Amino acid sequence: VSRPKHKVKELEAILKEAEGKGWRVTKGRNHYKIWCPCKRKHRKTVACTPSGSRYLTNLLHKLGRDTCWNEEMS
Ligand SMILES: [Zn+2]
Repeated sequence: VSRPKHKVKELEAILKEAEGKGWRVTKGRNHYKIWCPCKRKHRKTVACTPSGSRYLTNLLHKLGRDTCWNEEMS
């Protein structure tokens, strides 16, 4: 994969998981964007610098609520 690695280990794991699910990962200036492969075109921003210790938990929560992160691919 040619994208630059996320410097936060836990968030790099999220990006890897996204890629494993078929999501596209792009790098912006201060964030990554992950793009869901589904027709509804879900996307989420992953900050390069997490805003706090709950960032990861909140991100996973939002992914589960707003996207098909937890859904099986058909
Ligand atoms: Zn989706």
